Amino acid sequence: MRFPLSLTAGMARYIARNKLRPRPEWQQNSSAAADGSNPFRILHRSGPPDQPKKAHPMIGKRFPLVLMLEPLHACNLTCTGCGRIREYESTITQKLTLEQCLAAVDECGAPIVSVCGGEPLLYPEMGSLAARLLERNKHIYLCTNGMLIRKRLHEFKPDDRLFFNVHLDGLEETHDRCVEKKGVFRDAIEGIRAAKQVGFKVSTNTTIYQETDMAEIEALLGYLEPFKLDGHMLAPAYGYTSVDDREIFMTREDVHRKFKDIDRLARRFRVNSTPVYLDFLQGKRDLPCTAWGNPTYNTKGWKGPCYLITDGHYKTFEELMTRTPWEDYGYGNDPRCEHCMMHCGYEPSAALGINSKPGDNLRLLHWILR
Ligand code: SF4
Ligand code: SF4
Repeated sequence: MRFPLSLTAGMARYIARNKLRPRPEWQQNSSAAADGSNPFRILHRSGPPDQPKKAHPMIGKRFPLVLMLEPLHACNLTCTGCGRIREYESTITQKLTLEQCLAAVDECGAPIVSVCGGEPLLYPEMGSLAARLLERNKHIYLCTNGMLIRKRLHEFKPDDRLFFNVHLDGLEETHDRCVEKKGVFRDAIEGIRAAKQVGFKVSTNTTIYQETDMAEIEALLGYLEPFKLDGHMLAPAYGYTSVDDREIFMTREDVHRKFKDIDRLARRFRVNSTPVYLDFLQGKRDLPCTAWGNPTYNTKGWKGPCYLITDGHYKTFEELMTRTPWEDYGYGNDPRCEHCMMHCGYEPSAALGINSKPGDNLRLLHWILR
């Protein structure tokens, strides 16, 4: 993500401190002995089973960067590619209390909290939750479909650390088709307009599917230019097993093709992703998955191993960190990870400087300043 300068500096300090002195209680591998208490299904190991696997470059240095907080899974839409409303269908009426949300935020300690769901603006205490997170000096990305922004805007105060991150998958016709409801694009645009008019930070979040026409995405970013938004996130879709329509998801090769022209878009518009993550999406460099950098908490607990795959839910953050066999996930280790290039697994790897090349720091500095 592209962050304000204050956050980038704070994040750099946080990463340096944790790399130097990672919290020891998060570095154990309690799951090493796979037994009945280990909820994970290890489907596949890369390489011959009798040979030790290559150690992860961040082994012994796990810490979270962004907490994905899901106070509820209820939503006012039924988007075609949404894994959440399908996976959590049986618990869709449940929600976390405000106290549970704050306890998870404190337990994990990540400097950025991405409040998602479901639709977080259906969460009755959303205004109070944002205020309490700001008191803790967290940066907040409130990920919303935008339909309820105008109705609930009065519950928030503009703050440089609070972003409404609005989901838009294309121009009006395409977006309304993706979310399976007419009028959603217009509502989201009116929400964006209202929030910007009174001084809120607003960014957008676009999922790129097999069918996405990248020329339309360029047109969308052009359409949004007059709103002077505070960044755009573009990410490839992940093929959730709970979503039936397999045709809409991409292979790694498809992702490389879709993002081949992303540097040009990133020069023209405020694309949030770091240059290293964009290299990865284009197939110019490899990154290992660091899903522990983006842990998810919801009504069932700490979701492991990642935002996308659910092999178990843990009661505590420490359990998630120590009982997940992290090295059994990622490209080449688990078939479900084969085509995943999502930011929740790989943007932390870019931010942590894994597989860095000479010149990366300069590119990063240029990106921040620009
Ligand atoms: S708005 Fe978000 S949570 Fe709701 S159905 Fe669409 S993708 Fe899922
Ligand atoms: S590669 Fe993707 S699906 Fe696999 S663990 Fe990492 S983030 Fe999750």
